[in-house]
Amino acid sequence: MHSSRHLSPGDTIGILGGGQLGRMLAMAAARLGLRSHVFSPEPNAPAAQVATASITAAFEDTAALDTFARCVNVVTFEFENVPVETVAYLARLRPVHPGPAALDVAQDRLSEKNFLSRLGIATAPYREVNAAEQIPEALESVGRPAVLKTRRFGYDGKGQARVTREADILPAWEQIGGQPAILEGFINFSRELSVVAARGQDGRTACYDLVENRHENHILARTLAPARASEEQTGKARTIAETVLTALDYVGVLAVELFECPDGALLVNEIAPRVHNSGHWTMDACAVSQFEQHVRAVAGWPLGNPVRHSDAIMENLLGRQAAAWAAYLGQPDCVLHLYGKSAMRAGRKMGHVTHIYTKGKRPEEKDARRTVDAATQRTGR
Ligand code: AMP
Repeated sequence: MHSSRHLSPGDTIGILGGGQLGRMLAMAAARLGLRSHVFSPEPNAPAAQVATASITAAFEDTAALDTFARCVNVVTFEFENVPVETVAYLARLRPVHPGPAALDVAQDRLSEKNFLSRLGIATAPYREVNAAEQIPEALESVGRPAVLKTRRFGYDGKGQARVTREADILPAWEQIGGQPAILEGFINFSRELSVVAARGQDGRTACYDLVENRHENHILARTLAPARASEEQTGKARTIAETVLTALDYVGVLAVELFECPDGALLVNEIAPRVHNSGHWTMDACAVSQFEQHVRAVAGWPLGNPVRHSDAIMENLLGRQAAAWAAYLGQPDCVLHLYGKSAMRAGRKMGHVTHIYTKGKRPEEKDARRTVDAATQRTGR
């Protein structure tokens, strides 16, 4: 099978990773007449259930990677902890978007922070830490309290520990497994925001609205779209996203997670080189979703218009919360998405719901919550 920079309908997008993000990418590809081929280490993965084809194999299995490469025109990934070696191996056989450089930066918190600093983008103060003995000096530098984070493989608050006093140092170091880390100044943020943006192969960018995210137990609980924000903030967030996309010569969708400081300033917490949970609202509140946008970018097609036609609150259905699925079907202006996962483990992302409102008519969060709770109580969530 040949590979070209621009796909045609009927061509195949290879997706590394089989989770819900891959599933929604495969569905967006199908809507555009493209095929998808999912490579996942787990059998019966959510993405494999809806893809045209799938391979179950380890990311290190080069024979399986060769077969996969032969079946696809372009490769992308749905989670950033795919081994860089896997992506680099495939990049010799097929175009890979986003490229290994973006993955390299996003997989390592130190590289990520250094990269952002070089671009003049503000982050929390940070210091590299490779041994517990380095923590006291780093603490002096970043200030107290601070957060110790592993450089690699941290997500949803995993691989993190708070350090306030000297007595916290050793337990924190042990808690993160004594791995190479960074110590970050704790930001007393007023809100967590994010922006999802895309860059096409022609270098054009498209940016969705700035949104507000509410986390519970370090996991995203809901996204409010758009964020109530000043023009200055929305402009700033867009500039940050565009600067990052351009600096990485990026192709595809990327998310930038931000802390809003009490004075309104924005600091970047992290970059996700992929479609993102805080962009799920775009499926129901924009003509072109983040998933379609990513498919367009990796296919070498023009990006779509990221304009929002409705306001939205996206609610994640975690673990047992998904048992209330039927209640959402009965609610007007509510769109249900389920990911095809059978085991409802605590905190596991089983699906999400988008509440759609006429632009400018989104209720205050507490009022919106009341409607949701009333619906879900009926099913004993
Ligand atoms: P992360 O894995 O870096 O996205 O962190 C997960 C969550 O921990 C973030 O969404 C924040 O709520 C919190 N967090 C991470 N870093 C900091 C920080 N430097 N200051 C305050 N809260 C933080």
